[in-house]
Amino acid sequence: MSKQYDAIIIGGGSGGLSYAERAASYGVKCLLIEKDKLGGTCVNVGCVPKKVMWNAANIAHMFDDAKGYGFSFGETAFSWKILKEKRDQYISNIVTWYNNSYMPDAGVDVIHGEAKLVDNNTVSVNGETFSAKIIVVSTGGYPLVPEIKGAEHGITSNEFFALEDAPKRIAVVGAGYIAVEIAQLMAAFGTETHLICRGDMVLRSFDEYVTKHLKEVLDNDDQLTLHPKSNVQSVEKNEDGSLTVTTETETIVVDELIWAIGRGYNTHNIGLENTDVKVNADGTITVDKFQETNVPNFYVLGDIMGGQFQLTPVAIAAGRRLADRLHNGMTDRHLEYNKIPSIVFSHPPIGTTGITEKEAIAEYGEDAVRCYTASFTAMYSNFSTKPVKTAMKMVCVGDDEKIVGIHLIGPTVDEMLQGFAVAVKMGARKKDFDDTVALHPTAAEELVTMR
Ligand SMILES: Cc1cc2nc3c(=O)[nH]c(=O)nc-3n(C[C@H](O)[C@H](O)[C@H](O)COP(=O)(O)OP(=O)(O)OC[C@H]3O[C@@H](n4cnc5c(N)ncnc54)[C@H](O)[C@@H]3O)c2cc1C
Repeated sequence: MSKQYDAIIIGGGSGGLSYAERAASYGVKCLLIEKDKLGGTCVNVGCVPKKVMWNAANIAHMFDDAKGYGFSFGETAFSWKILKEKRDQYISNIVTWYNNSYMPDAGVDVIHGEAKLVDNNTVSVNGETFSAKIIVVSTGGYPLVPEIKGAEHGITSNEFFALEDAPKRIAVVGAGYIAVEIAQLMAAFGTETHLICRGDMVLRSFDEYVTKHLKEVLDNDDQLTLHPKSNVQSVEKNEDGSLTVTTETETIVVDELIWAIGRGYNTHNIGLENTDVKVNADGTITVDKFQETNVPNFYVLGDIMGGQFQLTPVAIAAGRRLADRLHNGMTDRHLEYNKIPSIVFSHPPIGTTGITEKEAIAEYGEDAVRCYTASFTAMYSNFSTKPVKTAMKMVCVGDDEKIVGIHLIGPTVDEMLQGFAVAVKMGARKKDFDDTVALHPTAAEELVTMR
């Protein structure tokens, strides 16, 4: 006889925790099953450790800024070990809080173990079975490794965060935000960094206006070499432990290679074949606007839906909205998968919300689209010994110039975008920005004074 719950949640990452906590707050009896650490990718091997490293890399860049402002100091040193220890402790505190406070205080039962679906309503874990009317799956993804000779000598973002020392030479293979972020932060720490990508540039789905500015930064970075139009063909481990990375045109010798070529989905190993849930060929699961699969009362959240918005706040928002709708009478509540802002923690960061100019032209036609741009060196950066540009683009459509996209690159745009994202989500027009009085002197004011 299986034990009964109102809802069983598989996966204790961003999506699973959020649904469970919100549902339990409405009196739903929830069981959450997690096979590894609560917090999932974001807390343990994603956003959180990455942002700590980005902060440190940002401070490394500030030494150049400080010199430009008249500061002088002797040789500086950086201890990867100290930072890693503090970072690990910070993360361990979050996980402890999830285990000891967040879930117990919410009244959610948690089992640590690998869940397997037995049928549409039943899950087994650690030799026990549990049933519920509602099943929520948010099992996330894993980094892909290519099938080429010697690929096993490389590591992924997961193992990157476990490195006890900073490698002296590193190759990062990939063109997405994870590849760019890891490459640039390592370069900031003084590591000889090779960023290898198949296309002619990284972040190709982003608006070209910002990637053009990023390219300038990459080209000016003494520690980083971009290897465009390059496919890694083999990796060989040398006697001294170093790796020889061979592409069509060159060989590069490094101490670590990081595969950041994309992510697969944890849907092949959770017993879905015992259910009626349809899984797509690429491992994603399609849901309707209420997160429901083709099986009634069987819901999916987060990264395993695939698509462009594989982000923590997206999984969280979808989970909370699902609980609000199912258990708190908010009958139409659901997440709209558009105008979702995101940040690439590059140096300087990139912020984007809405669609690119190219996408706007494809959707509305060339005549309907008008773009405003600004490219400048902000006052702060002007004084730096290594100034970087800020660039902004606003994509508008129609006679009333509704803003359908904002794309930014520059110091502090990561903290700048959130408020503008609210305005875009509310349907702001260019005129609304024009009518807003600027904050002076800031870089953000350029967005309300564009002509
Ligand atoms: C390097 C990196 C940096 C990132 N940076 C950012 C960022 O800056 N901002 C941002 O918004 N997003 C970022 N992300 C993405 C973000 O981490 C994910 O979008 C988010 O974690 C997705 O949540 P989820 O609930 O879908 O899956 P996850 O958080 O991955 O959680 C899934 C959980 O399910 C568990 N699980 C899997 N199978 C089973 C099973 N059979 N039984 C029990 N448990 C199981 C896993 O152990 C895992 O804990 C980053 C990701 C990476 C890899």
